[in-house]
Amino acid sequence: DEVTIVTVGSHTSLHILKGAKLEGFSTAVITTKDRAIPYKRFGVADKFIYVDQFSDISKEEIQQQLRDMNAIIVPHGSFIAYCGLDNVEDTFKVPMFGNRAILRWEAERDLEGQLLGGSGLRIPKKYGGPDEIDGPVMVKFPGARGGRGYFPCSSVEEFWRKIDEFKAKGVLTEDDVSKAHIEEYVVGANYCIHYFYSPLKDQVELMGIDRRYESSIDGLVRVPAKDQLELDIDPSYVITGNFPVVIRESLLPQVFDMGDKLVAKAKEEVNPGMLGPFCLQSLCNENLELVVFEMSARVDGGTNTFMNGSPYSCLYTGEPLSMGQRIAKEIKLALELDMIDKVIS
Ligand code: ATP
Repeated sequence: DEVTIVTVGSHTSLHILKGAKLEGFSTAVITTKDRAIPYKRFGVADKFIYVDQFSDISKEEIQQQLRDMNAIIVPHGSFIAYCGLDNVEDTFKVPMFGNRAILRWEAERDLEGQLLGGSGLRIPKKYGGPDEIDGPVMVKFPGARGGRGYFPCSSVEEFWRKIDEFKAKGVLTEDDVSKAHIEEYVVGANYCIHYFYSPLKDQVELMGIDRRYESSIDGLVRVPAKDQLELDIDPSYVITGNFPVVIRESLLPQVFDMGDKLVAKAKEEVNPGMLGPFCLQSLCNENLELVVFEMSARVDGGTNTFMNGSPYSCLYTGEPLSMGQRIAKEIKLALELDMIDKVIS
């Protein structure tokens, strides 16, 4: 039966759906009526599956509808947030592109650290608690909250002062504070590296690189230093958009090595490992080391910078290639080879 490629209308769904159409698949988008406009106006979805609210996507009737249309779901950050990770793991019984068991490894900081550190990648040094702060650190809190409430600081006193300020403003709760994660502040240039691992070709491909455009920090740096001190503004790191970037060519061996190492380690830790798209968010320090502070074990939002191909993805075939189309190509090849079980879970 004909397969339909489906995702939730959000995050990276435009190129996931467009890429599927370019490979000849029919597509469907799950959306609320008031969020349907981009998918209609860009014409990327053949069918619309309407829900009253996004949290309804895990409901049995929606799952049944998806199975009836022979759907393969492409999970992205918003899909996982709306469906709920527990549901994705246990109750959402619709075939999904990639390895759904690895999603918890990006969601929980300890597992993430185990995978990244265990791969031999350079990661920021982790502090045991605020009393250990002996230089610039970045303080983070649980959950993907787009960097809201994160803050840099460099002493124990500054840590508690900022915690009190954020609690007073209602940005942080007592519970958040007990779960504060403190790590080395890495001064460097941001590279979010998007890879694709093909289980069919056993090959790690470099698909593109972006950097983040974050509020308020990217606006704050336009304020002269003396005025920054005057204004006394606490920066936030809320992602609002992305820029495409390229990395100096001599760093590409390091870039490929990082992807290869993570794929190898992920196979050991959570078989069959990292299938399809993943992303390493890094900061390149002055010694030209890429320090990885975060990973996505599925398509990352920064892939939107290359909906019509990136300088790197274009090198493989000479054709513009988005991450969404790369995913669709893998599904298509798997169907042709009768190996679909290798790319879904
Ligand atoms: P996302 O929504 O991307 O998952 P998040 O809430 O998990 O966001 P991070 O991506 O971990 O947040 O961090 C947000 C931003 O904070 C980063 O893009 C980067 O600018 C900055 N940042 C994070 N870790 C460090 C670090 N160790 N040193 C310096 N800056 C950092």
